[in-house]
Amino acid sequence: MKKKLIKKIAIANRGEVAVRIIHACQELEIETVLLHSDVDINTYAYRLADYKICIGSAPSAESYLNIEAVLNGAIASGADALHPGFGFLSENSEFAKRVTDSGIIFIGPSADSMDLLGNKINSKKWAQKKQIPLIPGYEGQNQEVEFLTKKVIEIGFPVIVKAAQGGGGRGMKLILNEQEAKAQIESAQRESKAAFGSEQIFLEKYLDNAKHIEFQIFVDSTGEVVHLFDRECSVQRRHQKIIEEAVSPSLSPELRSKMAQSAVELVKGSGYQGAATVEFLLDGQEYYLLEVNTRLQVEHPVTEMVLGFDLVKAQILTAQGDFVISQSELGLPKGHSIECRIYAENPFLGGMPSTGKILYQQWPLGPGRRFEYAYEKDDSVTEYYDPMIAKVIVWDTNRRGAIKKMKRVLKDSIIFGVYTNIPFLIEILEHPDFVEGIMTTQFISKYFSDPIEPPTFSEEETQWITDTSKKLQNFQISGGGGDQLSANPSKTIFEFDPFCKMWRGV
Ligand code: ADP
Repeated sequence: MKKKLIKKIAIANRGEVAVRIIHACQELEIETVLLHSDVDINTYAYRLADYKICIGSAPSAESYLNIEAVLNGAIASGADALHPGFGFLSENSEFAKRVTDSGIIFIGPSADSMDLLGNKINSKKWAQKKQIPLIPGYEGQNQEVEFLTKKVIEIGFPVIVKAAQGGGGRGMKLILNEQEAKAQIESAQRESKAAFGSEQIFLEKYLDNAKHIEFQIFVDSTGEVVHLFDRECSVQRRHQKIIEEAVSPSLSPELRSKMAQSAVELVKGSGYQGAATVEFLLDGQEYYLLEVNTRLQVEHPVTEMVLGFDLVKAQILTAQGDFVISQSELGLPKGHSIECRIYAENPFLGGMPSTGKILYQQWPLGPGRRFEYAYEKDDSVTEYYDPMIAKVIVWDTNRRGAIKKMKRVLKDSIIFGVYTNIPFLIEILEHPDFVEGIMTTQFISKYFSDPIEPPTFSEEETQWITDTSKKLQNFQISGGGGDQLSANPSKTIFEFDPFCKMWRGV
């Protein structure tokens, strides 16, 4: 592959992943241009980027999902490469092609290999040729409802209907019995058409006692395919991951090596380049291909932590034809890493999105702790985008240690201005199934179908809150000194942190 030194990268994304990419670029001494929507001038990535170009207004369709706008921004910026991050246009092969056709390096796979592996139906066909186990189902061309209903009965209940062009946990419907089959298929087709512009759906047997295990794959500049071991992402709500870890606590060395081989085999010969993730469902000792994600994954940091490998830098260096790695060089994973996704939502109201200004934010630094966040103090979380505002990642020598560390770190993390799911995450981390590592993708719906209870206070505590509240009306925290108080009645800004049951100065 021809080498071409990248000097300036356009980032077609926002939030914490834009920050992550900027950090990698800074270390590689590459300039960055943030292609952003108008509301995103109040974000951390905006402040960090060397250059910024506004490509449209807040709704994603008018900015981050608008191919023309993103492309024009990238061309105008004079960038020689574009990083799509994840979500938005990152898996859109037409976009990848348009970027490349404009003479800009797309940091990711070619449009053709994206079509082959990233399309859920194409990848199944490709996997079949390579004898990689597939979930029983139907992914053919016949889309007549009567025919599909027959197929559903043939497969056996429960069955999941998926949009061929779907993603991000959307466009899926569960069919539990014959009576609801027709209605669910029709509804899936309608929704798929509305959300993804295509009515095409496919069917899979629904595995209701499975774990989500995925393998990080990397293809270097020479075409060498390596794997960076596995992650387990079984803690999901409505098919979306909340907590991820590396490596999975559920694989024997034999099974791990077998699954890794399948993942590598799947990508071999596809003309792929850069980072990919091969996702499997594991049911007992049997594993089945779920899909391939042809981009960087939200949960990539846990892999980086156990292997000491920078996936984003590797992506950039590979795109400029400059990265070579072998399986033996990667070594074996060390210790254990867990990631928690921090969502701006009210955990006491079942995760209702929470928007507003970040009044105060503090991440407790320390060994083996990593914080990837999208906003700083005074920035606003709006209703326009995904509610994930940050990721907390920890590393420790073993899984028990990592769980303990994560709990401590979450308890010490302070975010005021919006609600977060931190109390919910802590409850999950304390659940015996999670501690034992035996959770399946049904874990949340099984144990957390109701919103968690807000903290309750004893009479003594309530009294303390009332008294402290009164006292604080007249005082303000002086400097950074914890609970030192100094008289200044004019500017009292305190908030009660209901989870930690304490007052914090803002
Ligand atoms: P998306 O591309 O929208 O993320 P996936 O196909 O990757 O969708 O599936 C997301 C999650 O949905 C999986 O991790 C799993 O929890 C659940 N899921 C998908 N297909 C099945 C299936 N056939 N059986 C059981 N669970 C499934």
